[in-house]
Amino acid sequence: TPLSHIRNFSIVAHIDHGKSTLADRLIQSTNTVAERDMKEQLLDSMDIERERGITIKANTVRIDYTAKDGQAYVLNLIDTPGHVDFAYEVSRSMRAVEGSLLVVDSTQGVEAQTLANVYQAIDADHEIVPVFNKIDLPASDIDRVAEQVEDVIGIDASGAIAVSAKTGEGIVETLEAIVTELPAPKGDPDAPLKAMLVDSWYDPYLGVVVLVRIMDGVLRKGDQIKMMQTGARYGVDRIGVFRPQMQNIDALGPGEIGFITASIKQVRDTRVGDTITHEKKGTDTPLPGFKPAQPVVFCGLFPVDSAEFEDLRDAIDKLALNDASFSFEMETSAALGFGFRCGFLGLLHLEVIRDRIEREYDIELITTAPSVIYHVYLKDGTQMDLHNPADMPDPSTVDHIEEPRIKATILVPDEYLGDVLKLCQDRRGIQLDLTYAGSRAMVVYDLPLNEVVFDFYDRLKSVTKGYASFDYQLEGYREDNLVKMSVLVNEEPVDALSMMVHRDRAEMRGRAMCEKLKELIPRHMFKIPIQAAIGGKVIARETLSALRKDVTAKCYGGDATRKKKLLEKQKAGKKKMRQFGKVDIPQEAFISALKMD
Ligand code: GDP
Ligand code: MG
Repeated sequence: TPLSHIRNFSIVAHIDHGKSTLADRLIQSTNTVAERDMKEQLLDSMDIERERGITIKANTVRIDYTAKDGQAYVLNLIDTPGHVDFAYEVSRSMRAVEGSLLVVDSTQGVEAQTLANVYQAIDADHEIVPVFNKIDLPASDIDRVAEQVEDVIGIDASGAIAVSAKTGEGIVETLEAIVTELPAPKGDPDAPLKAMLVDSWYDPYLGVVVLVRIMDGVLRKGDQIKMMQTGARYGVDRIGVFRPQMQNIDALGPGEIGFITASIKQVRDTRVGDTITHEKKGTDTPLPGFKPAQPVVFCGLFPVDSAEFEDLRDAIDKLALNDASFSFEMETSAALGFGFRCGFLGLLHLEVIRDRIEREYDIELITTAPSVIYHVYLKDGTQMDLHNPADMPDPSTVDHIEEPRIKATILVPDEYLGDVLKLCQDRRGIQLDLTYAGSRAMVVYDLPLNEVVFDFYDRLKSVTKGYASFDYQLEGYREDNLVKMSVLVNEEPVDALSMMVHRDRAEMRGRAMCEKLKELIPRHMFKIPIQAAIGGKVIARETLSALRKDVTAKCYGGDATRKKKLLEKQKAGKKKMRQFGKVDIPQEAFISALKMD
């Protein structure tokens, strides 16, 4: 295909504004997929994505479209993830295309992720076509949304297209705008090969599949290639495009997007953003802006049943093959035994991996408190990265500690603003900006990441009845008065419950933690002290009183089936407990005890 007849684009939107539905309609109306194969959310293939209605991995599809000018065009759509955890995936897939459709739900308006994603598109120098979706709904207000797009984002909304991805209205106009408004890609077929590694994943039949965008040169089947970052060399086995099923072709030229396979062993061997060139007569200058995705949230994953440790190792190994941004190493906890310390891009990423282990591998897990990476500066002048509060060195050897900070953007209707400010303030936030867009406020806060990773998003949703939207980016590290708080149950420290906290908030957090644990730990035959401590100093304490009767006592010895049922229940409950010294702690305690409400 000549460059002038190719259009590469992505769709940016806040979650639920209709990105996947619009993609479905574009695919369907161009007969890219036979009617009988059409199913909803065609691009969201993973089960977990479908269930949660989010797109995790970038997906892509090639659409043939004959425009009103009578010419045949090739439209390549890269679908990007819509969640903050995957901002890096968004940014690199943006660099593989020249334009974006900005989808805004016309019953809702601009939201925090609309902003975050559209700024990524602007950064990537995209031409942007606004698409106002859900016009079939009575609450649709196109003028208001157009005003918002101009005021808040600062892009021209006069060419916006009114669409119902549900009914199909405006779909042809959207396809025409892609052809007429978005620029054709540039590139030189005679220059040395320069291709961007946009994404990679493991396919059970083909092995590692690599999504590429050709910038210059031509990539052919059988070519010897090298990855410029890793230096790895491969022979290309297969080249193809997605329609959206895989279809083999012989070559990809400038401006084209497709996949290759090359006997690559594991996804970890590929670096997203890397430049692929020919082994011989290749380019010397890689594409700019490469950076590997870094995990920012860490937690321990332990099997509830310690006999399942090897199964867990196996599950983690398999998942890691397909996810280079997920890191892990073995961990031993005095409380929980053998497990893994795992690093994730964010909390959603953590949940997705944890769910997959539980569901696909059928292993029950104990997840320890999520933690960020602290920079600990020791008095001897050295610095360590602390991923796990349990590894905190003796405080007397520590000079100071720095924590990661984020810049958070929150959009919220006026009436909830007070609650949002209070929440941010409670989480040690520093207000940076407060502006209004219509009846909604946009607040920008500098917040410690560790106050956000746990339940900030849930709290935000609950205090605003779901009306707030939230997005963040990492800003860097700053010193603060941070200490390690330990928790002792029946005088025994439970390492998996220790956490880093700000000194000024330690008492409050300690008290809350002890109270929660008192609720969560069942009573035993003896009395159990529950304490929070900093160093050797106890800062909070609760006592769980002793239990005298066993559960079957109230059955009057009569009803045998009821007695049996109760004992079974007790047994099932026990299974989810871990023993610490003489005390059984239910697994849910490890997460619930940390919630701050
Ligand atoms: P995404 O999160 O941006 O991918 O959004 P989805 O495409 O999953 O859409 C979110 C919800 O909005 C789904 O329930 C869709 O059926 C619905 N939806 C999408 N487009 C329209 C539309 O034009 N009209 C109406 N009424 N509903 C829509
Ligand atoms: Mg979607």
